[in-house]
Amino acid sequence: MVIIMRNIFDYKIKELQVELVENGYKKFNGRQIYEWLYKKRVFNFDEMSNLSKKLREYLSLNYDFSDLKVSSHQVSADGTEKFLFELEDGNLIETVLMRHNYGNSVCVTTQLGCNIGCTFCASGLQKKKRDLEAYEIVLQVLKIATITKERVSHVVVMGIGEPFDNYDNTMKFIDIINNPYGLEIGARHITVSTSGIVPKIKQFSEEAKQVNLAISLHASNDNVRSSIMKINNTYPIREVIGSAREYVEKTNRRITFEYILLAGVNDEIAHADELSDLLRGLNCYVNLIRYNPVKEFLYVGTHEEKAKRFHERLLRRGITSTLRKEKGGDIDAACGQLRSKKINE
Ligand code: SAH
Ligand code: SF4
Repeated sequence: MVIIMRNIFDYKIKELQVELVENGYKKFNGRQIYEWLYKKRVFNFDEMSNLSKKLREYLSLNYDFSDLKVSSHQVSADGTEKFLFELEDGNLIETVLMRHNYGNSVCVTTQLGCNIGCTFCASGLQKKKRDLEAYEIVLQVLKIATITKERVSHVVVMGIGEPFDNYDNTMKFIDIINNPYGLEIGARHITVSTSGIVPKIKQFSEEAKQVNLAISLHASNDNVRSSIMKINNTYPIREVIGSAREYVEKTNRRITFEYILLAGVNDEIAHADELSDLLRGLNCYVNLIRYNPVKEFLYVGTHEEKAKRFHERLLRRGITSTLRKEKGGDIDAACGQLRSKKINE
């Protein structure tokens, strides 16, 4: 008989408990195993000393551990760190650790490349090769917590890929890192960012727990949005905002819109006015993002003074909004600068 080894990091606690009980073990063993993996960071069943010998043997025969190899590691002047990890099949992914005054945040990758192909984003330069499995996303967080020996308190799903094009694995990942016996990352400290896949925003609203949702809007009308995000041809602004309204109604949570300020594209006062009209009455927050240059593209970020005027205009028109500089720009670790191949290739 061929035994198929299953990856232990791909298990939600409930799934693990079901398998344990089916095989004659106790439900609470699931919790013990989770604690060994995610709290004590022991990656060897033999060392899980509070489990019976029989259970340890069963686990060794049926489950294995996968690992991420650190292929390179860069540290930015502002404390941000970028990890290039090698997956077991040899593919490379990038993950970023950011240090904030409120704790450490990890920005995870969900796909190898991205098919959405936004015209300003380095991740979209490479067509999607495949989705990441849930355990490959879990390991990005676990590995960084293990290497740095620091607690990861926040996770942003904003690395390479469109998480809602890999919906099930992303949701499974969130369940695993959220578990109190595991990494215990609070749902309110997890943010998923989407380019606006409307049916998935609806699905997410139904099951959202307390996880934060951010939508990459980047424009105040369909003309501009379609010119920089071709996904807008499938899900135009009206539908995206409609699904955002539903999300807010269903979850009672505030939604975030991301808006990159691109010189000569979407940064006029008239755009700020159009944007505030669009978002009127919606419990939302606009995160104005400075464009991080990508050498393949000709875009230029909006000048600081003009960005401030845009920001002030939104505030004056009653839209909650922030404008800040991103971290990690000097090591190409800022949003939109990640790519799934070797650094700077
Ligand atoms: N695919 C998802 C999540 C990953 S991108 C999404 O698009 O939302 C995370 C954020 O980085 C998005 O808001 C994206 O629009 C933004 N981004 C992409 N390229 C960027 C760049 N060059 N400068 C600044 N932000 C960028
Ligand atoms: Fe993909 Fe998001 Fe980049 Fe667009 S911005 S190409 S959706 S990763």
